[in-house]
Amino acid sequence: MGKLEGKVAIITGAAGGIGTAAAKLFATEGARLMLVDLDEAKLEALTRALGEERTAYAVADVADADQVKGFIAATSERFGGVDIALLNAGIEGKVARIKDQTEADFDRVIAINVRGVWLGLKYVMPEMKKRGGGSIVMTSSTAGIRAVPGLSPYIASKHAVIGLMRSGAMEGAALNIRVNTVNPSPIETPMIERLEDAVNPQRGNTKPMADNTPLRRYGQPEEVARLMLFLSSDDSSFCTGGVYMVDGGVSAGRN
Ligand code: NAD
Repeated sequence: MGKLEGKVAIITGAAGGIGTAAAKLFATEGARLMLVDLDEAKLEALTRALGEERTAYAVADVADADQVKGFIAATSERFGGVDIALLNAGIEGKVARIKDQTEADFDRVIAINVRGVWLGLKYVMPEMKKRGGGSIVMTSSTAGIRAVPGLSPYIASKHAVIGLMRSGAMEGAALNIRVNTVNPSPIETPMIERLEDAVNPQRGNTKPMADNTPLRRYGQPEEVARLMLFLSSDDSSFCTGGVYMVDGGVSAGRN
């Protein structure tokens, strides 16, 4: 029997690298899925690939309260409730020194990466309470525990995700709702291609962020998805309020 048999999971950012890997793994483990993203073409293709009898999708902006309420309600309508929420959608924002960042870019990153996670937490917890509990996994980053130059809105947002997780864990404990973060280092996804190009424009075919990782490579989305599976399933029944690194050793040593 799969580790998520009988469970219903919402995955935001499901059309992206990490979200898609999580959707595939969770489907293999028996979950029924609501996939959420802005990219309808990718959502539709993934839903078809995973099987429409156990997978649905919603095109929604996680920063918009009505749209968040909408996809959570649609999940309960279609599958009878919500047991798991991967609050994973996120953007990296502009790469620039603080003096060159704009208020508009700062607000956009915070709206998606912080308000989006907070709205997910706010509206999914009452649904999980009806089921007697649940598990919420938020995607923070190594950028949630340390800084690099040029990414101040993103760094601030991923630190804030840890604060939201801890708040959710404290309030969720009495409801049997567990809340944790996964904190990846650079993972081989479209996001990291964009970041490498912005941070290291002269890189050519090199991968400086991989070289700066003690394991000397990018992580794979599937390696993050496996940690998400652990935290979503009953295997992690005593884990809440935790920051879980999946970072090839980045947080252990040199910056
Ligand atoms: P990605 O760019 O492949 O995927 C992100 C997805 O989020 C995209 O499909 C995008 O359409 C979606 N999205 C963006 N804004 C949205 C919005 N307002 N509403 C709904 N969906 C929206 O990147 P990824 O690596 O899969 O990123 C997933 C998460 O992992 C993000 O929160 C990111 O910050 C985090 N993360 C990524 C890395 C990495 O190296 N790739 C490292 C650490 C943390």
